[in-house]
Amino acid sequence: MAGLWAGDTLEAAMQNVNQNSRPSDLKITELRVAVVARAPMTCPLIRIDTNQGIYGLGEVRDGASPTYALFLKSRILGENPCNIDKIFRKIKQFGGDSRQAGGVCGIEMALWDLAGKAYNTPVYQMLGGKFRHKIRCYADTTESDDAKIYAQRLKKRHEEGFTWLKMDLGIDLLRNVPGALTQPAGESIEQNVTRQHMFTGIEITEKGLGLMADFVAQVREAVGMEVPLSADHFGHIGVNSCIRLGKALEKYNMAWLEDMIPWQHTELWKKITDAIDVPTLTGEDIYLKEHFVELARNHAVDILHPDLATSGGILETKKIGDAIQEYGVPMAMHFAGTPVSCMASVHCAAATENFLVLENHSVDVPWWDNLVEGIEKPIINRGFITVPEKPGLGVTLNDDVVNQHLLEPGHYFDPTPEWNKERSHDRLWS
Ligand SMILES: [Mg+2]
Repeated sequence: MAGLWAGDTLEAAMQNVNQNSRPSDLKITELRVAVVARAPMTCPLIRIDTNQGIYGLGEVRDGASPTYALFLKSRILGENPCNIDKIFRKIKQFGGDSRQAGGVCGIEMALWDLAGKAYNTPVYQMLGGKFRHKIRCYADTTESDDAKIYAQRLKKRHEEGFTWLKMDLGIDLLRNVPGALTQPAGESIEQNVTRQHMFTGIEITEKGLGLMADFVAQVREAVGMEVPLSADHFGHIGVNSCIRLGKALEKYNMAWLEDMIPWQHTELWKKITDAIDVPTLTGEDIYLKEHFVELARNHAVDILHPDLATSGGILETKKIGDAIQEYGVPMAMHFAGTPVSCMASVHCAAATENFLVLENHSVDVPWWDNLVEGIEKPIINRGFITVPEKPGLGVTLNDDVVNQHLLEPGHYFDPTPEWNKERSHDRLWS
């Protein structure tokens, strides 16, 4: 103590906070990307460098172009990265639904990582502290048209310790079954068609509904009734088929039915939700809290499901959780990325009271854990992630492992001077 007060200056005190950084003088000097492939998604990592040697890690939403982050570089150069909300409000206009928000959110994550390192504090602590030490996870499970095989895969997840399961349950299962679907000739049942559900004219028949219900029955037989079981990727079917399918699944006590129709249709969602006694859920493609609040206020779905790499980053997603909690709506979290954005989600989940469960798509990728160092391994241990206690997001990259899995070999955080001057007249009002 004598040593600390002898200097008797704020600077001395701040140096005691962190030997590496004086937060008030911190400035952003560079933004670089390194794109990881087959994780199993394509995941653009970003690194924001500063004038004091510390850097922040973030990640653009899976599958999105790193350009979404790079074209914001000129807007953040010279800013103090600890002014997270100020910078977020400056770049927020360059985000949009789904992947369009990838750059804004990736930068926001990296700013939290930097602020945490500058102040020597884990991100969850800066958000107001923890509601939980461990984050419950559910895992994506590779689909099979054979109910018995699929049931065994889900059973394996349960045995691995996952306390929440999710399956895909699409009309593609009915592809080769005569009389299972009513559809206009030539209309595709593929999920990547751009036509929204209500506009395909595809409806499920009684026979089709029976087969889909039986599929779930076989999964329930394998995993039991006790574990929560969610379902997703139903295909582009009409609202009435969503309702009839929901009713057919009621007896299997599903945890939620996800994205039965696009999230934009609040009133149609409410019609489905009011008609079935199974929780409904949407949200992974929504940017900013306003749309979440609209869905919650109308009780159009039972559970909301932001992906922090789309919804607006760490602070906006905590705000979403807190706002929908006022309406009695829980927050599950979509996630598909590397351990970097996983940790962003983990800190947010720890600090948000109405959090339910966090997704993971990489349980079967053997090198996924090895991309980072500094945290407990395995990262998902018996279905839970322990909230890190190190400053910032709490992870550093393992350079060798990331280098082995780059989309473009050799391009690991290259300098990006070509993005230093990108500009437009950014004002939003006159
Ligand atoms: Mg989904």
